Amino acid sequence: MAAAETDSEVPCARCSDFLNFSAKDTAAKWLEVDNLHKEVYQHLACFVPKIYCLGPNLNPQNEDLLAQLLLQGPLEWYLCGEEPTVGLAKLEQSNQPSQLCGHVFKVGEPTYSCRDCAADPTCVLCMQCFLGSVHKEHRYRMTTSGGGGFCDCGDTEAWKKGPYCQKHEPNIGDSSQKDPLANLSEQMIDRTRNVFSIILKYAVDMLTWEKENELPEGLEPPARGDTYYCMLFNDEVHTYEQVIYTLQKAVNCTQKEAVSFATTVDRDGRKSVRFGDFQFCEQAKSVIVRNTSRQTKPLRVQVMHSSVVAHQCFALKALNWLGQIIRSSDALRRILCLVGLHQGPNGENSLVDTLMLCDSKMWKGARNVYHQLFMSSLLMDPKYKKLFAIQFAKNYERLQSDYVKDDHDREFSVTDLSVQMFTVPSLARMLITEENLMTTIIQTFVDHLRHRDLQGRFQFERYTAQQAFKFRRVQSLIGDLKYVLISRPTEWSNELRDKFLEGFEAFLELLKCMQGMDPVVRQVGQHIEMEPEWEAAFTLQMKLTHIISMMQEWCASDERVLIEAYKKCLSALTHCHSGFTDGEQPITLTMCGHSVDTIRYCVSQEKVSIHLPVSRLLAGLHALLSKTEVAYRFPELLPLSELSPPMLIEHPLRCLVLCAQVHAGMWRRNGFSLVNQIYYYHNVKCRVEMFDKDLVMLQAGASMMDPNHFLMIVLSRFELFHIFSSADCRKRYGRENINKDVVQQNNTLIEEMLHLVIMVVGERYIAGVGQVESYDEIKREIIHQLCIRPMAHSELVKALPENENKETGMERVIDHVALFKKPGVTGRGLYKLRPECAKMFNLYFNHYSRADQSKAEEAQRKIKRQNGEDSVLPPPVPPHFCPLFGSLVNILQCDVLLGILGAVLQWAMEPSGGHWSESMLQRVLHLLGMGLVEEQQHLTGSTEDGISFNFTLKISRPGEAPGNTPSILALLETLQNAPHLEVHKDMIRWILKTVANIKTTRECTASASPADSSGHSQEETVRDKDKAERKRKAEMARLRREKIMAQMSEMQRHFINENKDLFQQSLEELDATTSTSLEHSPSTCDSTLVCVGPRRWRAGASDRRQVVTCILCQEEQEIRADGKAMVLAAFVQRSTVMSKNRKRPPYNPDKYDPLFMHPDLSFGTHTGSCGHIMHSHCWQRYFEAVQAKEQRRQQRLRVHTSYDVENGEFLCPLCECLSNTVIPLLPLTKTTCSTEQPDQRQWINIISQQIKALHAARKKTNAEGVDDADSAEDCHPPDGFRLDHTPKNPYSGTIKEMLTTFGTATYKVGLKVHPNEQDARVPIMCWGSCAYTIQSIERLLVDEEKPLFGSLPCRQNDCLSSLTRFGSACWTASSQAVVHGHFIRLLAALVPDSQVENTPCILDIDMFHMLVSLVLSYPALHCLDSSGMSEDAAQLHLLHLVTIAHIVQILLTSIPEEVRMEQESGGAEREEEESVCLLYNTLRSHLSSGLHEVTSGWHLWHCVKTGILPYLRAAALFFHYLNGAPVPPELHAVGVGEWEALCGYLCLPSNPLQLYYNNLELLEPLLQGWCSHPGVLQALQSSTALIRFPRESNHLIELPEDYSALINQASSFTCPKSGGDKSRAPTLCLVCGAMLCSQSYCCQTELEGDDVGACTAHTFSCGAGVGIFLRVRESQVLFLAGKTKGCFYAPPYLDDYGETDQGLRRGNPLHLCQERYRKIQKLWRQHSITEEIGHAQEANQTLVGIDWQHL
Ligand SMILES: [Zn+2]
Ligand SMILES: [Zn+2]
Ligand SMILES: [Zn+2]
Ligand SMILES: [Zn+2]
Ligand SMILES: [Zn+2]
Ligand SMILES: [Zn+2]
Ligand SMILES: [Zn+2]
Repeated sequence: MAAAETDSEVPCARCSDFLNFSAKDTAAKWLEVDNLHKEVYQHLACFVPKIYCLGPNLNPQNEDLLAQLLLQGPLEWYLCGEEPTVGLAKLEQSNQPSQLCGHVFKVGEPTYSCRDCAADPTCVLCMQCFLGSVHKEHRYRMTTSGGGGFCDCGDTEAWKKGPYCQKHEPNIGDSSQKDPLANLSEQMIDRTRNVFSIILKYAVDMLTWEKENELPEGLEPPARGDTYYCMLFNDEVHTYEQVIYTLQKAVNCTQKEAVSFATTVDRDGRKSVRFGDFQFCEQAKSVIVRNTSRQTKPLRVQVMHSSVVAHQCFALKALNWLGQIIRSSDALRRILCLVGLHQGPNGENSLVDTLMLCDSKMWKGARNVYHQLFMSSLLMDPKYKKLFAIQFAKNYERLQSDYVKDDHDREFSVTDLSVQMFTVPSLARMLITEENLMTTIIQTFVDHLRHRDLQGRFQFERYTAQQAFKFRRVQSLIGDLKYVLISRPTEWSNELRDKFLEGFEAFLELLKCMQGMDPVVRQVGQHIEMEPEWEAAFTLQMKLTHIISMMQEWCASDERVLIEAYKKCLSALTHCHSGFTDGEQPITLTMCGHSVDTIRYCVSQEKVSIHLPVSRLLAGLHALLSKTEVAYRFPELLPLSELSPPMLIEHPLRCLVLCAQVHAGMWRRNGFSLVNQIYYYHNVKCRVEMFDKDLVMLQAGASMMDPNHFLMIVLSRFELFHIFSSADCRKRYGRENINKDVVQQNNTLIEEMLHLVIMVVGERYIAGVGQVESYDEIKREIIHQLCIRPMAHSELVKALPENENKETGMERVIDHVALFKKPGVTGRGLYKLRPECAKMFNLYFNHYSRADQSKAEEAQRKIKRQNGEDSVLPPPVPPHFCPLFGSLVNILQCDVLLGILGAVLQWAMEPSGGHWSESMLQRVLHLLGMGLVEEQQHLTGSTEDGISFNFTLKISRPGEAPGNTPSILALLETLQNAPHLEVHKDMIRWILKTVANIKTTRECTASASPADSSGHSQEETVRDKDKAERKRKAEMARLRREKIMAQMSEMQRHFINENKDLFQQSLEELDATTSTSLEHSPSTCDSTLVCVGPRRWRAGASDRRQVVTCILCQEEQEIRADGKAMVLAAFVQRSTVMSKNRKRPPYNPDKYDPLFMHPDLSFGTHTGSCGHIMHSHCWQRYFEAVQAKEQRRQQRLRVHTSYDVENGEFLCPLCECLSNTVIPLLPLTKTTCSTEQPDQRQWINIISQQIKALHAARKKTNAEGVDDADSAEDCHPPDGFRLDHTPKNPYSGTIKEMLTTFGTATYKVGLKVHPNEQDARVPIMCWGSCAYTIQSIERLLVDEEKPLFGSLPCRQNDCLSSLTRFGSACWTASSQAVVHGHFIRLLAALVPDSQVENTPCILDIDMFHMLVSLVLSYPALHCLDSSGMSEDAAQLHLLHLVTIAHIVQILLTSIPEEVRMEQESGGAEREEEESVCLLYNTLRSHLSSGLHEVTSGWHLWHCVKTGILPYLRAAALFFHYLNGAPVPPELHAVGVGEWEALCGYLCLPSNPLQLYYNNLELLEPLLQGWCSHPGVLQALQSSTALIRFPRESNHLIELPEDYSALINQASSFTCPKSGGDKSRAPTLCLVCGAMLCSQSYCCQTELEGDDVGACTAHTFSCGAGVGIFLRVRESQVLFLAGKTKGCFYAPPYLDDYGETDQGLRRGNPLHLCQERYRKIQKLWRQHSITEEIGHAQEANQTLVGIDWQHL
């Protein structure tokens, strides 16, 4: 590396070199001089290059020390005039702490905003202030900071309520008005001003300095060497990889150094990559430039003289120093502000201005430092904040232009400070009036978008990449405009009015550039060649949506402004229209005796645009005028006469027709861009200022027109006029059947047109259109969402438009319209519509999509049917129109509409042959219903209206031309009985009934006698009854039909599941047969059930018979040793779930000896199964097919699957559960019970002799040929022990094969080695897996508080039983000698064997593993024995022996008693207590020094009893599955009686110590042997690592209740590798609590030859490859398995609405849900994480592609 080469030549500055320097004297000298500036500069010129940048900096602390001593020291002395520590302390005392908290946020730190009290969402509190504020009881929102910005606590303008937390509450006594400078002496002020202005000037000079080789005047170094830096600058163009690669080439450094350089460049904005003479650096520069200039502009590199770099370093230091020193004193802070904003005598820029204006030229690190200083000085002082804001606004245009050209992110730009000023309402107001800020922002924005078409509209079509980039950056200006507008004025001054209106006019200019942009023309013939650009225009529209709404709200708050704005908007619209009239010739339309003039225009043939912001703004203002009623009070102020209604509606109508035609499929050839535009036009993000306003404009226009004229224009624009205007329009069929497609198209258009009419008349939920408040509007939105289905809070939020504060207003109304249902362990909380709100349901709600509409209709009809109501869905009663819109109701009764309705009804007389549609008729009926509802409403209201609106009269009149067409009413009466209209019958009936009711009411009011409205005639009631009966029958038939259908589809859908059930049933039957046979055959044993030993229960022939079905071929098969092999799909995995020692270093898999499991269980092998059984040959065929498929797939495309075929993984063919091997099913072995069996002592003797014989035989074979005399001597094998006997293998070929398959798989996975079926460790791994799996299930049952037996699901039952039986058979697949060797070594750990060395001490052995391995390896020995000794006896003796060893183990590790228990002499267990004391004292006598004294027998007995229980339980499970003995009922329950039942079942005395006392002479020597093992004393003395019994279950770490505590914790977490940097994705291991720096370059490590991220690396040490993490910033649980598998899982944190917030997007407070956390814990404890990942990946293929290993 370059730096290293020059290192030795560098003169290293040392503190000792400057011992004679005195800061005090220097400061004293400064006090004397005239030109302080010159003096200080000289000082700096002399010392700075001596301290900084003397080559690669290897000792930054040294620099800091020197800088403090030589530079800051004198400055501080000078400033204070005395010892700085004393002076600064004094200043601090007189300091009046700012009431602003001003805490600057770190990246990822939690911030809080109050949704009730914050002036806007940018007002935030730090965690400390929040916890001390009133808002923690309010509706708050929590987010994580992106860095920068500060806490607004104490800013009275930021909070409507509670601006102070407890800490920042001002003292009532002091007046905040007091000038902080009053406390300072005149001289002090002068001195401070001197120092500050010189240092600030110096810093500004240096940071804005652009020359590489020179210094500002007065700073030239006394001596100048040929030392340079090659400085690399950051840009946003080149990637990390490019920079790293280039650096390795250019400066010849290692990859690691290059990464470190690149990281620093990215963080600080620049970094010197080489130090040396000019030539040396220049050379590196040219390499870098050459290497990066190919595709893009090259990386910026400068060769700078070391003194320049040194001064720049100190300049940054100096700014930090200033920030530091003003912290202690508000007076100093104010002086700094004063100095910074001081302008030169001729109006030269102040230092602050200079910095701002050079912002884009500085590197990131420099910008950050001075932005920080601004924040802690200018922005913390109310007076100077205002002055700074003015300067900022004055420079605004220039700053923004610089920013747009710059390529740094906005958070590194000074423009980002706008939020700190513009969101302060008083400042914003002041800047608008005094600096005309609003106009400036808008004009700057418009100026930057220069690409226009001929009409001056924006054109994004042929944007270059650079323009697109600029467009993205310039959007931040809209953000500024939003800040300025966010708080609406409560009082208006005349200046504010003027400036606002000026801004409004500028805004209209902007909108005019958008009106009509991106026009489209219908493509006929062929498809468009290229999708036109549309996103830019919509981005602009979306960004402006809130601005447009806020503009309207500002206007609404002042009548004069509103009227002026309305006028300006109108004239802007008129201006727009003037350019549009070409080619639009006037025509006259005539229909139903009315005629109107309009223009000839076809949406389907000419240009049409979806962007009409000017029209829409006018629509909004029109509604506001209507609401404020200014229109009625001062009509003379309004230019109403200038309005031309047809002109107003023209463009919005075209836009709506466009949508209708797209729906009708007429624009298919225009591609997706148009479909997308239509989608967004209606979408919740845009519709408020698009679709909704178009509707309002249509309503406004129509309200000012003759309704007939309006409808004729509508028909004409829909291109439907010819259909309804012809005289014989009622006979559409036969006249117009030329082209089926055209008819179809027209049908859709008619539907859309009718829907539009419904909306124009019916939509009254906008304040100003109808007599409603915003409250009603939201309420109605929510009701209609919930009419579709119950929804979660977040779903509702998404469906509702948000305002600029991200509020929907939903909380105010939700409880009035919905009921909340809490979530369970999965799912989320749901809101359900209150039943009484269903009557507001409107099928033609304007915000429904067609899909929503049909879902809602279905849901609502279903609910009505369930309630036994008529399922008709009539239109709801609408609110009244505001007067300005009142005339709209007349559309319902106008001639043209009635003509249209009549025509459609007439068409419907005949079954549809395509000439009418169901939806068309449904809309017509709905419109009729609306007319009736309207009339009813008028009738109950004033009488005058009732007369003017007489809908029933109009529809009763026969049609006019030609001849005698029937009236609408008459048509309906006929249609009522038409068989083809079954679905519409209920609505027709409802209409007819309502007509009858209205007529009655009218007659009654006419005759002035209050009549009984429900008075039916006799005849009518009879008819009704009849009808009701018919209906009931029909309903019943329907329900029956539905039920059958449901059943059928259920059957189809769950065919597989069905099979599964059948399968499970057969197993249950099997279980049932076993249990019944048990009841019938008590003969085998005595009354107690025993699972081990000669007295154990034995299966009869019928019990052993087991028949299963193969899931693949569905054939039945009996399990027989000599039969076809049947296998269970199984998944073997390494596990650390029960580990008591996660720090144990990983072993070398090739050398590791797994025979003895350590009691810390640090690594185990777990086997699980889904319980699905197959023939081995069926499975093999299936697996081969999977393999072949995978190979084909890999050749085609490299996609990962959720399972790794190469590693033997596959999915269970039935349940898709991840598996990696199969376990063969084996029958119970047939055993007989001989009466005479050796006792323990005899048995040990026999075994010892047998072992001796084996040793001898082995020696003989080893020493073949060599004469070995003594071997033959005393090693007579005991009677019946035939060394040369080769037992017959009882298993069929396929079973043998499967035994090997599973054994090898367990070995391979458990040890992470290559498969090798010959390896001696194969059987050990199998026994270990059996023991570990049983132990883990025993723990799980305890943790779940379930009984030991009877609660396991079938699949685990099957798995355990096949696993244990496999274990007892697996020796047959290995070499006998090997298994003998294992048995001998195992036994030697308990029974001394002189031939075996290096046996572990009993404290290093897990006794259950020991028991299982001994029992399962014994058969290899037993098969040589023909003496009649039974295997059962051996099992029992082994059990007894190991049990004693375990008791000793427990006693040795028992914790000394702490308090004397009261149960001291319980009495009941006196005998046990005495015996345990005795044994303990024996142990003490063997181990005199190692064992503490215990006198309480009760305590010891308690230790033994609780310590041994897990072992006994596991042993009971083991022998149960091994020998098949049924279980005593006590073990099917939890709690009392368990101990006795266990002892009985295991054939142990209820005081297991008896085992010892009954065989003292045998066991005493053994005991002594165990204790004398040197390992015991060693372990006891280093008590830290001692495992005690019972081992507690592991659990996931404790999590805090409040999620923000976690965020806070993570925000202070720094990357462990890159020295104090914030971690981007802090991730918490839920198993051990480690915090990791995930998903980041810095923390990648190499694992088995691959680069992996911190999480993956951690899983290998902490979880044997499986990991459970919480990604703190994302609030997301991460499951990882191996390097390639992973999935995200719902976090255990929920908000008050019962929902998670993955990605922390909503920011609702989150609290821990214990139930969900326990569920995750359970998944972990039962080893289901990998399975869960498999299922998630199968369900969601995108998860497969994620690069999990780098997380
Ligand atoms: Zn704070
Ligand atoms: Zn505070
Ligand atoms: Zn609040
Ligand atoms: Zn089969
Ligand atoms: Zn399965
Ligand atoms: Zn890191
Ligand atoms: Zn961990």
